[in-house]
Amino acid sequence: MEWIAGGLAVLLAVAGLYIGVQFAFALVRSELRFHWGMDPLRPFLLRKIRPEHKQMLQEWCPYYVQLDREDRLEFEYRLALFIRNRDWNTRNQETLEDETVLRIACAAVQISFGFPALLFEHFRRIVVYPTDYRSRITGFRHQGEVNPSGLLVFSETALEMGYSDSMDGRNLALHEMSHALLIENESDNTETDFLEDHALAEMRLCFEHMRNEIEAGQSLLRPYAATNFMEFVAVSVECFFEQTRSLKQQHPALFKTMVELLKQDPGQRKFLGTTPGMRHSAVRTSFR
Ligand SMILES: [Zn+2]
Repeated sequence: MEWIAGGLAVLLAVAGLYIGVQFAFALVRSELRFHWGMDPLRPFLLRKIRPEHKQMLQEWCPYYVQLDREDRLEFEYRLALFIRNRDWNTRNQETLEDETVLRIACAAVQISFGFPALLFEHFRRIVVYPTDYRSRITGFRHQGEVNPSGLLVFSETALEMGYSDSMDGRNLALHEMSHALLIENESDNTETDFLEDHALAEMRLCFEHMRNEIEAGQSLLRPYAATNFMEFVAVSVECFFEQTRSLKQQHPALFKTMVELLKQDPGQRKFLGTTPGMRHSAVRTSFR
């Protein structure tokens, strides 16, 4: 009996030590990140984005291409952080291509690059179908959807199409991630309320002012943007990144508001929210 009690004591001591070390590491890491803008796991995460992944980004992500060296590293770090914190699933296909994962993560990082690293904590689960699919909720065929319960769904072919032309103002990943961004802003987690109220109010005003014009097909924004405020923001985001100059020329008030909303100006490579050192300093998410 004595050896059983001894064994149990050793087991408990080891488990306690393990939990203690994990806890101390998480504490030190969050302190380092929050006050010093450092993540001890950053080098480890950066290694996850391999040369072939960078090659893919260079082929279809002009946003990444135009970043300077420091911002590229930050972009790659955030990609890895986003990918690591997701539960990736497929439907009607066995494997999920790295390129598909990158396309989704790329849009998430791009749209939120003006903020301290956003992890879209609310959207832990991602499902990818090979092509468009019949939604279990609406019964209609979809190319992508954002379920407020915390699920993102994409069609692989539609994702690829979105990145095949970087200047047509259509990108499924950016569109869906902009819905996710608005929902994340309302979520009850550590990533709440990061969008400026005044910028959101301005966006609503832009929507009211532009709705008829959009509906009549007289705007750079396609008519779908007139459906409701969420779609207006999503279509605006697609044009903001893919038709930056045209949007600035044709809808200067909307463009200015979007710069304030997303804290970045893609035409000038300006990220207004934070300094580069601070961008990853305020990650307050579980990072295991
Ligand atoms: Zn939409």
